[in-house]
Amino acid sequence: MIQLYDIFKSFDHLTPALTKISIKFNSGEFVIIYGPSGAGKTTLLKLIYRDLLPEKGSLLFNGENIVKMPIRKIPYYRRNIGFIFQDTKLISNKTIFDNISIMLRICELPEEEVYRKTNNILSFMNLSHKKSLFPYQLSQGEQQKIAIARSIVNGPKLLLADEPVLDLDRELTVEIMNLFHNINKNGTTILFVTNQETLVEKYIHLPNKIVQLENGKIQKIQTSN
Ligand code: ADP
Repeated sequence: MIQLYDIFKSFDHLTPALTKISIKFNSGEFVIIYGPSGAGKTTLLKLIYRDLLPEKGSLLFNGENIVKMPIRKIPYYRRNIGFIFQDTKLISNKTIFDNISIMLRICELPEEEVYRKTNNILSFMNLSHKKSLFPYQLSQGEQQKIAIARSIVNGPKLLLADEPVLDLDRELTVEIMNLFHNINKNGTTILFVTNQETLVEKYIHLPNKIVQLENGKIQKIQTSN
């Protein structure tokens, strides 16, 4: 699904954020990318999201080099991708239902489809009873679940999750990790980023691939099955 060839990205032309990154992510994989802060994890996700461009290398999504993709095509390309950013915020003056359905409305789906898809995802998350509430009426964990719901409501092929369990307690982390497991079982490819090595050790059974990044370089790739 995604192939990176010899990617080089630097912000200040002195210290590279990523160097010599060549890796392949297959369709349906659950990939954990881990490494310390500053390793280049977010930069890698942003390159795949076509939010950043590399100075060197190519990045293929289903065979198409997105580095060369014309700007007008980017919004359509991004419809394949759900992205949970580190600082994901819900819109405070919109209900949970409206927060989740926002992307569907941007994509101008018919209203019946908006209702069907949003209600489906709310029920998948066991959060249907919260749909008319506003974000401040939800716990931190529920808000995080809504952010995840919003990123997958459009049925993306790929989900990019940047530190989605940071700051969550142990119980919620288990719940959210199970949620990612279920999303993956439903066919979505997941690139899950973390700087917590203990999390990788605890959930070692989940991913098909574990990629260790350090100083902008791939240190190790572990593949299972
Ligand atoms: P991680 O997600 O692993 O913490 P990042 O991808 O955020 O790492 O950052 C990798 C390196 O690139 C760091 O040295 C960081 O300071 C640098 N960097 C990231 N974004 C920018 C930016 N917009 N401008 C300048 N430097 C940046």
